[in-house]
Amino acid sequence: SHDLRTPLASIKATVTSLLHAESAHSPEARRELLQAVDEETDRLNTFVGALLDISRLEAGAWQPEKDWFDLVDVVGTVLGRLSDRESARVQVQIPPDLPLVPVDGIQMGQAIWNLVENALKFSPPPRPVEIQAYAADPETLRIAVSDCGPGIPPGEEGRIFEKFYRVSGDRRPEGVPGAGLGLAIARGVVEAHGGRIRAMNRPGGGATFELLLPLRPPEMPPPRDIEEPDEEDADAG
Ligand code: ADP
Repeated sequence: SHDLRTPLASIKATVTSLLHAESAHSPEARRELLQAVDEETDRLNTFVGALLDISRLEAGAWQPEKDWFDLVDVVGTVLGRLSDRESARVQVQIPPDLPLVPVDGIQMGQAIWNLVENALKFSPPPRPVEIQAYAADPETLRIAVSDCGPGIPPGEEGRIFEKFYRVSGDRRPEGVPGAGLGLAIARGVVEAHGGRIRAMNRPGGGATFELLLPLRPPEMPPPRDIEEPDEEDADAG
C-alpha cells in the first residue's frame, strides 16, 4: 500500500500546487515539478504492471503461450532494454549449439529481466553480471544469472521469492526502488513453465539465481527444424 500511496500522494500534491498557484511558480520550477510527476507516474505504472502480473499468475490466468525460441534472442531482447552502460556489464555465455527452448518469450523475458535488473542494481559498477545457459541434461535447460553484490542473507534464500518480501536490512543502494514483486513474478513464470528457480550465494561473494526449465515438455510437439518436412504444415501459422 505504501508503494501505491506514496507516489499517488506526491502526484496529487504536485498537481494541486501547480493548479492553484500557477503564477507563483517560475517556468523552471514548473518544469521540475512536472518532471517529478512524470517520474512518479512511471514508477506507479511499473508497480501496477507488476501487481497485475503477479495477480494473473496466481490466479492461473496468465498461462504461458510456449513456442520454440532461440534463447539468444530472448536474452537479446532483455539486454536491448538496458542502457548501453548497463548492457556493457552483462556477460552472456550461451553455447551456439543450445537447442531451441520451449518458452513463452514474453514471460520468460520478463523473468530474466527481473533477475538481471536486480543483479545490476546490487553489483557495484563496473563489476559484471553473468548470464549463463546450457543444457544440464537432454531434458533440462539451466539458466543462471550471477552478480557481485552482497548476496542473500543465509536462511532467506527461499523467502525472497515470496510476494512483497524484502531481505532483512535490505542492502540495496540508496534510492533504488522496488516493491518485492520481481522475484515472485520470476518464480511464478518459471513454475508456470514446469520449472524451478532458486537463489544461492557464490563462494567468492554475490548471488546466483538458477532456473531449471524442461527442454522437452510432453505437451509440445518438437520444434519445426527437427521435424520431418511436411507439405501441409509448411505455411501453417
Ligand atoms: P524488489 O523489486 O524490491 O527488489 P525482489 O522480489 O526483486 O524485490 O527481491 C526481493 C528481495 O530480495 C529484496 O529484498 C531484494 O533486496 C533481495 N534481492 C533480490 N535480488 C538480489 C540480489 N541479486 N542480490 C541481493 N539481494 C537481492
